[in-house]
Amino acid sequence: MGRPSIPRVKSSPKQKKLAKAKAPRLLEAKIKRKFQTQLLKWYAEFGRDLPWRRTNDPYKILVSEVMLQQTQVDRVVPKYHEFLQKYPTVADLAAAKPQQVRETWYPLGYNIRPYRLHSIACESVERYGGEIPKDPDELLSLKGIGRYTAGAVRSFAFQEDAPILDTNVMRVLHRVFVGDGDPKSQKTKLWAISEESIPKGKGYDFNQALMDFGSMVCTARKPFCLLCPMQKFCKVFPYKSS
Ligand code: SF4
Repeated sequence: MGRPSIPRVKSSPKQKKLAKAKAPRLLEAKIKRKFQTQLLKWYAEFGRDLPWRRTNDPYKILVSEVMLQQTQVDRVVPKYHEFLQKYPTVADLAAAKPQQVRETWYPLGYNIRPYRLHSIACESVERYGGEIPKDPDELLSLKGIGRYTAGAVRSFAFQEDAPILDTNVMRVLHRVFVGDGDPKSQKTKLWAISEESIPKGKGYDFNQALMDFGSMVCTARKPFCLLCPMQKFCKVFPYKSS
């Protein structure tokens, strides 16, 4: 798997400043390099071919990310196509009635999501001329976009080395690099690890790989430790559920 061939987008001064404000190093350089290499190698062989990996349109990527919250990939794929056929642009979505958007969303569930997406579209039309903004602060200022979604849009649409941390990513990073305690109570540390572990210039593939690896190998219950390329350095190998 690889990202679509898209020209790299230059970072703004604000983004460069953000990138420079690095957290103190948490990872041993050798282990970090091994993890990066093994993960990207695994992804090149086993990464999933998903429709939102064939676009760099921030709007389409945002739609996929919101749909994927608490919903399985196989349920999202057909709805993703249907939704974008009906609302192909931010402006089309903003022009729709919220109730119509909610009906199109059916039966994905967790029904606050279509309203949030609609409200993001309206705000993007009002404030950014119908574009999903690239600036991290502007992205986060849109109601309904949290740190994870902003990181996903920045890395998958704008090819930035922006960290992500959803349930799958949190589980993988915690097992490999931390090993003990409850991952949910260590989110600050895990965000820092997520940021530090991205190989320079490879945020797109690395983040996609982390998500696939968490849902296909390092699963919540019964992870495939005996087949895992991280077993030599993973802090919890072999994982035993409590
Ligand atoms: S060895 Fe097991 S727990 Fe560790 S990363 Fe691999 S699958 Fe996950």
